[in-house]
Amino acid sequence: MSEKYISKSLIKWYEANKRELPWRDISDPYRIWISEIILQQTRVNQGLSYYLRFIERFPNVKALAIANEDEVLKYWQGLGYYSRARNLHKTAQIIAEKHKGKFPNSYTDIVLLKGIGAYTAAAVCSFAYNQAYAVVDGNVYRVLSRLFAIETPIDSNKAKKEFSELATNLLDKSKPGIHNQAIMEFGALQCVPVQPDCNACPFQKTCKAYKLDLVDKLPIKASKTKVRERFFNYFLIQYQSKIYIQKRTEKDIWQNLYELPLIESNKLFEPEEIGTNDFLTNIENIEISSTTSTFKHILSHQRIFARFFSVTVSDKNNYLNQLIEINCNEIDNYAVSRLTSLFLETIN
Ligand code: SF4
Repeated sequence: MSEKYISKSLIKWYEANKRELPWRDISDPYRIWISEIILQQTRVNQGLSYYLRFIERFPNVKALAIANEDEVLKYWQGLGYYSRARNLHKTAQIIAEKHKGKFPNSYTDIVLLKGIGAYTAAAVCSFAYNQAYAVVDGNVYRVLSRLFAIETPIDSNKAKKEFSELATNLLDKSKPGIHNQAIMEFGALQCVPVQPDCNACPFQKTCKAYKLDLVDKLPIKASKTKVRERFFNYFLIQYQSKIYIQKRTEKDIWQNLYELPLIESNKLFEPEEIGTNDFLTNIENIEISSTTSTFKHILSHQRIFARFFSVTVSDKNNYLNQLIEINCNEIDNYAVSRLTSLFLETIN
């Protein structure tokens, strides 16, 4: 199976099967960058509406650079992995400052930007500038490991070098942009993780995994992700017509997003325990008006169990004075996690 044959077949398959997407067949590096960052941890169907809204509000580097971070996060709300949005914002400011608002066009400059790794730099260089850099994302790992029956665990250091060299050898240097799009789309639509339709695949006769009956076993991943369990007790505290929120400033999940006052514990509180804990002990006349059942929220490395307590107070203590006091209907103006927004949907 020659490199030329593989690339030609991928491009032929791509021309016949590709999805029409707004970030395809464009050469604006800014839009390509935004789409690649959104799609890093998000499926195309979900990412599409976010991309369109984001680009409409922040159509270029300058618009993003001068925006307020709270607003950028609000546009990202629900997509998760919020460091992506914070990095986009910071990087836009760096480009505005160091590169006079013009997206850099050399791989070396692009890969140095915050939040941009080898994959994104190769995607921007090949899609926007037709430069010969091969992309290696999850789809590419899967396609290559199956086509060549490679059993190196894809999360090992060895794999990084091995797959990147192989992808570079296969790259059609005269059409790197379309070649890269083709192999990624092939992985997303044809050589899918579970039960790919090998009978409809142009590589059925040459694919080594198919020949060796290894399709379901490849690619191999060495390590299992460790999942940490956390227990969040949230409080919707009402004092007269006001409620209280806080900004998550710690280096933790949802950094710089807003949330209701929170006590993290080793297990979820029961309603009768409220009033014996931390800040609530000092508030007199506290009344619990409702308690939710447990919300289970799954993140890539964490499993969050949460319960929301709605309480009313007739007195303010120092703790409440440290929080952000808002009117009930103003909470929609703040970027919150998907977990908090699910709770807010239940009370609206
Ligand atoms: S034959 Fe099956 S496993 Fe091999 S490349 Fe095609 S879809 Fe993937």
